[in-house]
Amino acid sequence: MLPVPLSYSSILWMDRVRVGVIGAGIVGLSTALCVAESLPGCSVTVIAEKFSPHTTSDVAAGILSPHLITVTPVESLRRWFAETFAHVYSIARSTEAPDAGVQILSGWEIFKEPPEERIPFWSDIVLAFRVMSDSELTRFPETTFGWMYTTLLCECLLYLPWLEKRLKQAGVHLEAGKVTDLWDLEGTYDVVVNCAGLGAGPLTGDPLLHPVRGQVLKVVAPWLKHFIRCGDGTTYIYPGVTGVTLGGTRQAGDWRLGPDAADERSILARCLAYEPGLAGCRGPGEAGVGLRPTRKALRLVGERLERGGRSMWVVHNYGHGGAGVSLHWGMAREAARLVKEALAQSRPQPTHNKSKL
Ligand SMILES: Cc1cc2nc3c(=O)[nH]c(=O)nc-3n(C[C@H](O)[C@H](O)[C@H](O)COP(=O)(O)OP(=O)(O)OC[C@H]3O[C@@H](n4cnc5c(N)ncnc54)[C@H](O)[C@@H]3O)c2cc1C
Repeated sequence: MLPVPLSYSSILWMDRVRVGVIGAGIVGLSTALCVAESLPGCSVTVIAEKFSPHTTSDVAAGILSPHLITVTPVESLRRWFAETFAHVYSIARSTEAPDAGVQILSGWEIFKEPPEERIPFWSDIVLAFRVMSDSELTRFPETTFGWMYTTLLCECLLYLPWLEKRLKQAGVHLEAGKVTDLWDLEGTYDVVVNCAGLGAGPLTGDPLLHPVRGQVLKVVAPWLKHFIRCGDGTTYIYPGVTGVTLGGTRQAGDWRLGPDAADERSILARCLAYEPGLAGCRGPGEAGVGLRPTRKALRLVGERLERGGRSMWVVHNYGHGGAGVSLHWGMAREAARLVKEALAQSRPQPTHNKSKL
């Protein structure tokens, strides 16, 4: 009998491979899509307690603008942001843009005091980046420094359902349910991908993961065409496809999911100071509140769990804090590569008949 070529047996094996992705926020859905696209023929299932419009990602203001995340290497952040930017930019220039809720957006990022890093690590990834002139700065109160650039806005209330549609077209299954223990998925999936956001804390016992609460408001002000963002990320005005998002708050360790009236007053007052025309806007509608899944280093790694002589492969992709939209596609692609590596290591080795060797 002729030996079966390795590539053929690999294909047969890949056809039987099952990957389970926990989480239906922007990280889980994009990771599931990258896995399905890079491993055609394998079965992919998304398991999530909540789907759009009930995830943290649905609350995100959605601008692509990363920041330093203390322990994560800058080269990794640069690579993930560049891949995400290129991907979202290609959607923004396609006929899919209105359905996906993606648009190209220019504006100003301003500072009370100049930041340590006068030229940020992502300046050559966004478009038309430049330092603002003194005459431009006079427009903004208490501002001594700023950047003007063109970036992208990804409205997740549209982007997540669009991703779900693409997943269904790719044959990915979407299943509602809460996972209480990763080991409950052993045997059902060959590799599990943990994209549970803040839910990754109870699943892994990770003590480093914590919430940073954010509140935003949506108003109607179609005359606003540029974004304004304070460099510390606390105050922002982002004109989008479905209205203008006003923000925000950054409350570390605060688990409250209900809107706070004092936060709403503070957001409106701060945004009005930068854009007085907002006094004539319609709204605000109901406030959005989300808990950013924050960690001093993003966790993107493959791990082989062992228990009582059993083992299972888990790829973790969580802890994106306030940068999940900005980094999602680059990190999803890397998570898909880690899934391939895990599968290669867990692949049953062909047995050889010694008498024929
Ligand atoms: C107000 C606000 C504004 C923001 N603005 C921006 C911005 O402009 N740009 C930017 O880049 N980022 C922004 N962010 C950050 C961004 O929203 C997050 O980084 C991102 O949403 C994280 O996505 P995620 O998929 O990891 O988590 P989530 O969206 O929280 O999704 C987690 C998923 O896992 C599921 N899950 C959790 N535990 C379990 C379990 N045990 N079993 C089954 N399912 C489980 C959940 O149900 C959910 O489906 C903002 C965040 C907030 C709150």
